[in-house]
Order: sequence, then C-alpha cells, then structure tokens
Amino acid sequence: MSNPLLTPEAAQAIVLEHIQLLGMERVPLFEALGRVLAEEVPACRDSPPHDNSAMDGYALRHGDLAGASAVHPVLLEIVEDIPAGYVPQKNVGPGQASRIMTGALVPPGADTVIRVEDTRAEGGKVAILDPDEKGANIRRRGEELRAGQVVVGAGTRCGPGELAVLASLQRALVLVRRRPVLAILSTGDELVELDEPLAPGKIVNSNTYGLAALALANGALPLMLPIARDEEAQIHRAVQSALSADFILSSGGVSVGDYDYVKKVLDELGAQVKLWRVAMKPGKPLFFCTLQGKPYFGLPGNPVSSLVSFLQFVRPAIRKAAGHLPGEWFLPTATARLEHPIANEGDRRQYARARLRLEQGRLLAAAPQGQGSHMLSSMLGANGLLLLEPEARLGAGDEVQAQLFGELR
Ligand code: AMP
Ligand code: MG
Repeated sequence: MSNPLLTPEAAQAIVLEHIQLLGMERVPLFEALGRVLAEEVPACRDSPPHDNSAMDGYALRHGDLAGASAVHPVLLEIVEDIPAGYVPQKNVGPGQASRIMTGALVPPGADTVIRVEDTRAEGGKVAILDPDEKGANIRRRGEELRAGQVVVGAGTRCGPGELAVLASLQRALVLVRRRPVLAILSTGDELVELDEPLAPGKIVNSNTYGLAALALANGALPLMLPIARDEEAQIHRAVQSALSADFILSSGGVSVGDYDYVKKVLDELGAQVKLWRVAMKPGKPLFFCTLQGKPYFGLPGNPVSSLVSFLQFVRPAIRKAAGHLPGEWFLPTATARLEHPIANEGDRRQYARARLRLEQGRLLAAAPQGQGSHMLSSMLGANGLLLLEPEARLGAGDEVQAQLFGELR
C-alpha cells in the first residue's frame, strides 16, 4: 500500500502511450459509418460540374429585360423546355427564353434565370415581371469544389453528412481504420450466466454485457468470452484465447483477494505491467499491462467501476487505435449546474453518475443518491459523470464539471 496512487490523467497518459494505430481496410461506403477515414478523398470533378439553375423558371439574356415590371412586362419567345437531367439543345438568342427546372443545365446564350413566380405564361410566350439581377439563380460550375481539391481529409470521422459527400464523389469503397476487436473476459467463482440459476452467494455476470455494449457504442467489436473461474489454469486458457483480439479487457480478479489470480497469470505469460491503481472512485483497482504487445486492461470487478473505468481509459484507447484525432479521444466535458447539493467525503476524485439535461440552454446535472460502486441502478438513464474532487461540498446551483457519455436530452 506504499506507492501513491496515480492520478486519472497520469494513468490515461500511460495507457495512451502504449496504444498503436490499427491497420486499414477498404470497405463498402455504408460500412464506413462511424469509422475514421484513412485516406484523403479529392474531388473527382468541379462541383457543380456545370452551370445549372437554382430555381424553376426561365433561362434568358438579362440584357433583354431593361425596364421589365409587373405593369410593363417583357415578352419573350419560349424556345425549349429543359428538365433536370437533360442537355439543352437550343441556344437562347435575343428575345428568347427556355423553360428550365431546378438543377437543369443553363443553355448556351442565357446568363440569368428568372424564377417562375416572377413570370406569367402568355400563350407560347412568357411575360417577365421582374428583371432580378444579371446572373441571378445560377449555380456556377466549381463554386463549391474544384477538381483535385481534398474534400474529406484523412482522420475524418464518417457521419451521415460525410457519407453523403463521399457518395456524391462516387466513392463506393473507402479506406478506413479497422474497428478494434475487444476481448471481454469476466472472472470469478461467484458469477453465473444470465440463464443459470442463482444459488446463494452467486451474482449474475453483468459486466460482460455492460462492457460489450460500451464497446459497440464506441465503435469497437466485442468478443465475449465465457466466464473464467477463479482458478489459475482456467484464467490462463481464457487469457490466451483472448489474444486473438486487439485489446483485452478482463473484469474482476485484480484486487488483493486470495483468489485474485489474473495478475499472477499475466505475470507468468510475460505481461509488462504499466500501471496499477488509480486515485478515483469508483475504479481504484485498475491494472494495465501489455501482453505480447497487446493492451490489456484489468478492470475492477465492481459493476459500476468497470463501466466508469472503460469510459476513462478504454474508450480513449480504442479511439486512438481507430484513428480518431487526439481532440476526440476523451469524453467531452462541460460546466453544468447542480440541481441538488452533493459532496465527496473521500480522498479520491469521484465520478458521480448523473443525468445531464438542457433547460433553457443551460446544462443541469442531477446525480442519484446510491453512488456505491456495486449500485448498478445509478447507471439507469445516466448520460454523464460529475467530477467531484476530494472534499468538494457543492450546493444546488453550484457549477460542476461534467463528462458527457450518452445522449443529451
Ligand atoms: P473482484 O475484483 O473480483 O474482487 O470483484 C469485485 C466485486 O465485483 C465483487 O463483488 C464481484 O462479485 C463483482 N463482480 C466481479 N465480476 C463481476 C461481473 N462480471 N459482473 C458483475 N459483478 C462482478
Ligand atoms: Mg473476483
């Protein structure tokens, strides 16, 4: 118990130091959703590729419209109908106009489009009621993008907007970072699976599910391993089977209990210990090592602790590995106002599970009473963690730093 605990920040830095970028793969566009682009994507052509109409209306020569008004309209001869998707066949000469639809190519000779609302059809002719300005309602070739210019940079996270842009560039396949595979291993003689009867002294293995869900929610692929009993040989086999993954997460078995074999097994397998124990609550008994070059997180067994530790240490690691830019590794943090008093009596920073919500543009935070690391119900509806430094005593209305990990409602 002699060496001082690491601060959460120091522990995060140690973890991230040992995280390498994962490899790349070419995937169909839709599979890039939520992933990080590993290539620069240039514009394959100007956008728009040609001058086209921004409105339904008439393409014409602005010089013809001198003095046009509702009282003294200018009458023009209609030479052609140009629907979107067709190439104009006729030149627009003096005294002429072509009916044009939004997105359709502007015909040669025309320099302006007048909106249909500013015209009146008169037999085979059109009366222009408002001259607008020369060049009005035309989207110019290349006004958005020039051919060759980088449109989507490497390191970009592909959301729906980015996917739409990539589709517009006809990228059916894109190069992205691999999704990290996370092996998830729960250890303990007390654990039973969801479909097993609960004998006295036993508890249900909830960590595997909570951690796997967090993995999925953060862009990783969980590899859920069967429960390993508190027995050396079994843990040994389980850890070896986990080595097929990119990251290994185990929960439980890293405390100082008589049956905590995980560290012993890792030691036998040649793991290089990088950190042990962090000054935080919940989540103190965190263990991190590299095992045959792979990052291995020995998460605390307590259900809430394992989830909070994931958010603080595993999430930044998988985001770094998956190619996210450094500004996106950590949970976003904001100042919130407390809806009730809260105190941290302990000597470690507390991460209180909370509901964050917006009210009239202000961020409010409420944390449920039961904050014990075994009280899973504190996670119900929680979308944030309040950072309470040791001996903090905060009143209702006071400001508190809050990390957001779920949807803000
Ligand atoms: P340990 O770190 O193994 O001493 O476990 C600490 C506490 O977390 C004990 O109360 C365990 O029963 C509980 N625990 C360990 N693993 C799990 C799990 N997979 N699901 C739910 N609770 C667990
Ligand atoms: Mg245990």
